[in-house]
This record gives sequence, structure tokens and C-alpha cells, in this order.
Amino acid sequence: VNSRQPHKTAVVLLHHPVTNREGALVTTAVTNMDIHDISRSVRTYEVDHYYLVTPVLEQQSLTRRILTHWAGGRCLEWHPDRAEALSRARCVSTFEEVKTELIEMYPGRSLEVAMPDAREIPGQKTYAEVRAAWEQERNAGIKVLVLGTGWGLSPAFHSEVHTFLGPIYGPLGREGYNHLSVRAAAAVILDRLFGAL
Ligand code: SAM
Repeated sequence: VNSRQPHKTAVVLLHHPVTNREGALVTTAVTNMDIHDISRSVRTYEVDHYYLVTPVLEQQSLTRRILTHWAGGRCLEWHPDRAEALSRARCVSTFEEVKTELIEMYPGRSLEVAMPDAREIPGQKTYAEVRAAWEQERNAGIKVLVLGTGWGLSPAFHSEVHTFLGPIYGPLGREGYNHLSVRAAAAVILDRLFGAL
């Protein structure tokens, strides 16, 4: 759907496996603002799908209640643009489910997992490099951008990742503060990868 690159795209917000401030492996709760704000960024940058991933059943039902509330009925009448943004969002239990669904939806395409991180990891690419690569690829694929919650995605997730994306920095670079909210980071990252230049 995006004019500049031929791929199908998805943003994935993981609530597990993420780490807490001590570096322990935890599962975070879905927050309402992550549902709405990232849905609107997904819609703005013409990303095709937004997956909220949590293994916790009552978090799934809460998330689905919010999504159905906003996608239909009175909300659809009064906030059609918000309903449109949320219509791209789904809640599933695992990252595996995301991959399976995308491959079933778009058979024959290769699936690439890209993971930004606020910390430096060896082999990270810049956003400009990845944007250029994706725009130049002739074979239309599936590009999956995975974001974390809590204190970031656990290294346990790294085995799923094909492309590590570098930290977003302020003017001070790595010396400065760069702990953006996942909502702010999502908008910056999507703009760098898909925004109009
Ligand atoms: N509790 C926080 C909140 O309310 O958003 C969760 C922050 S969570 C660790 C931040 C996530 O956003 C990371 O997993 C990463 O996906 C992204 N992120 C945040 N700051 C970033 C940065 N400077 N560069 C790249 N990604 C960043």
C-alpha cells in the first residue's frame, strides 16, 4: 500500500519477552495509549498491520474489547478516522502467531524481522541504510518492525531478528538521554523508514 516500497508491512508491540529495570525477563501489561497512539502512527505511515502481542489471556480480552469498542458503533460515527486507524490493530498471544498469519496472508513472500533498540548492539544498521535497501528490493516481501515495552526487548528475542536497527539519538549521541517512550520511538522510526522526505 505504501507508494515508495513494494512490501507488506507490520508493526509488532511485544509485552513478552521483555526485561525489567533489573534485566529480569518479565511480561508487561498492555496500555491503552500504546493501542491508540501506535495505531495512529501505523495508519499515518500506511503500515498494513499492527500486532499487540501478549500471552496473558485477560490482557488479550481487554485489548480486544478496546479494539472492538473503537472500531464500531458510536465511535465509528463520531471518530471515523480513529476507527480506521484501529482497524489495522490485532491482539495475539505470540510472535509465532504474527509470523504465521502474515505468511498465510501473503504467501510466497520472504519475511524480514527488524528490531530497533535504544541500546547499541553489534551489527546494527542505520535507518537510512534499511530504507534504501527496502526501496531497492525488487521482490516484494513482508517487513516486520518489532518494538518492546518495559526496559526493552529481552536478548531472548534476538534469535528472531534479521535486521538490528540502531538507537535513535538526540544531538548528544550516545552520551545523551535516549529513553523514548515506545509511542514516540515508533513515530520517529516509521517516519525515517516510510515518511515522505
Ligand atoms: N514504559 C516505556 C513506555 O512507556 O513506552 C517503555 C519503553 S520501551 C523500553 C522502549 C521501546 O521503544 C524499546 O523496546 C524500543 O522498541 C523503542 N525505543 C525507545 N527508545 C528508543 C531509542 N532511543 N531508539 C530506538 N528505539 C527506542
